[in-house]
Amino acid sequence: MQSLLSSLASLSQAASPSPSVFVKPTRYVSRVFLHCTASSYPHHDDIEVVRKWHVEGRGWSDVGYHYMIHRDGSISVGRDIERIPAAQKGHNKGSIAIALHGGGHGKDDFGKIQLRALKRFCDEINQAYEGNITFHGHSEVALRDCPVYDYRSLLGLDKKGAM
Ligand SMILES: [Zn+2]
Repeated sequence: MQSLLSSLASLSQAASPSPSVFVKPTRYVSRVFLHCTASSYPHHDDIEVVRKWHVEGRGWSDVGYHYMIHRDGSISVGRDIERIPAAQKGHNKGSIAIALHGGGHGKDDFGKIQLRALKRFCDEINQAYEGNITFHGHSEVALRDCPVYDYRSLLGLDKKGAM
């Protein structure tokens, strides 16, 4: 009985949302860029759908983002972290790109669990870089309303984008 209980406990741990998926790449990285998919359709909450948009729609070799954070707080790995993303034109080198599903209906179009997962994941990245990394919205380097959520207050960023 005891061993059944402990194996059940480890099972529920393994099934908890947002397991740690961040692995620091060997390439140089100094900035994280945050995005939203700008779609609210539940069937678009899928990395394979976004991959299709980028590969078949835009002719890219793979999905442009490294990570996608779903409405339920789970995180999908997209493009290989060792590869430069295709997400912020002219600002891809030295970056990590993270997209949240949602945003089609404005800044409140995200889940609480989802935003908490983003915060936790960014904390993890920040720790991996010992604070020597900054966090930015796509809109800081492009005339795009992306991401639409208030990432600055969510992550507690200073003016330079440091946590
Ligand atoms: Zn974007």
